[in-house]
Amino acid sequence: MSTGAPLATRTTEVAEGLCDYLDASPSPFHAVDAAARLLAECGFTEVAETGPTPTDPGRYVVRRGGSLIAWASDVVTRRAPHTPFRVVGAHTDSPNLRIKPRPDWTRAGWQMLGVEVYGGALTNSWLDRDLGLSGRVAVRDASAPGGVGQRLFRTDDPVLRVSQLAIHLDRTVRTEGLQLNDQQHLAPHWGLGLERRSFRDWLAGLAGVAPEDLLGYDAMTHDLTPARRIGTEGELIASGRLDNLATSYAAVRALLEAVAAPSPQPWVPMVVLFDHEEVGSTSERGAQSTFLPAWMERVVLAAGGGREDYLRALAGSVVASGDMAHATHPNYAERHEPEHPILMNGGPVLKVNSNLRYATDSLGAAAFALACEQAGVPMQTFVTRSDLPCGSTVGPMTSALTGATTVDFGAPVLSMHSTREICGTLDQAAYAAALAAFLAPA
Ligand code: ZN
Repeated sequence: MSTGAPLATRTTEVAEGLCDYLDASPSPFHAVDAAARLLAECGFTEVAETGPTPTDPGRYVVRRGGSLIAWASDVVTRRAPHTPFRVVGAHTDSPNLRIKPRPDWTRAGWQMLGVEVYGGALTNSWLDRDLGLSGRVAVRDASAPGGVGQRLFRTDDPVLRVSQLAIHLDRTVRTEGLQLNDQQHLAPHWGLGLERRSFRDWLAGLAGVAPEDLLGYDAMTHDLTPARRIGTEGELIASGRLDNLATSYAAVRALLEAVAAPSPQPWVPMVVLFDHEEVGSTSERGAQSTFLPAWMERVVLAAGGGREDYLRALAGSVVASGDMAHATHPNYAERHEPEHPILMNGGPVLKVNSNLRYATDSLGAAAFALACEQAGVPMQTFVTRSDLPCGSTVGPMTSALTGATTVDFGAPVLSMHSTREICGTLDQAAYAAALAAFLAPA
């Protein structure tokens, strides 16, 4: 990874790195694994949550399922227990189809799998695609705490497909639009024959364990089309899960650039990647959990501080919550606020909502504006039409749990929550640069 490289080189490098990251991350567990690998390559040490927090200044990463926190306490100007944090937050989960606990059924000579829709998926985008499977299994393991171990699994074989109904059997789709019932119309087929197969047995084989040792699974589908640059100039990147792995990747890059920066910093740079944003963030590892505040406190305690130091650190901290932003859609321009057009490749996007669907206030906005200014990239501002409901992010929850000044921002994307979204190639380089400047001021 190079810093200060000419823009064209940097743009290509960020785009290629992002595509690799997207392809490595079909599930939140894999997204965290890929992020941890990038960090480990640059000297970050993984810490177990059940172990002691390292007291030596250093670079550390900790994960909780599909969530991850990384920080660098060795780049601080004058380290004190109450040193504040600069945090970039993002999320690792994306809408998809997830396999039910008792998924096997057959009909008309087809072997089918029962699925639940995870998050606000554009379900039509899952039709007629070659689908793989990935996730995590819990396995019997006498050497693990509680006798339960975990491992990731993944197949990029096209084992599943959700087939669409032919036009001849329902011509109303042309006049009334496609009506999809989540229970009825989204089950993937994964084989032929009337004999019921056992998904559990098949998954055990994939995970490399005996069927009786497979105790549970978190299994989900992914589109097998790889991430790639598209457009006559390669000016766009098409992929699944850009929301929000594009921010996760930019955040990890930013932290790696912050630790490589020549001058020390007045705060502890930190990145947090949360699972479960698409379903409300209430879990042991979502943005409403104790994951972030607990680890901020542990960093303070490990530096010799107490509760007072922790609260002082929070009061001085700033959190930047990154999530993708709607670019103005050329075919639906009327759906966007006309005075706040968001241009693809027009730069990172500040997100504002006075009803606090986004946490941005003037102080948070100023921190992000300064970061864009320092990075030399343009900044756009998103606000939703007043007659449309606004989406939300991990920003408001994080700000409520920590009391830190918070800003919501993103990078322009089209087709948000489709299995195939697009973003701007130039935007991704600008995004990574702005986040790096946020974590490591010149
Ligand atoms: Zn998102």
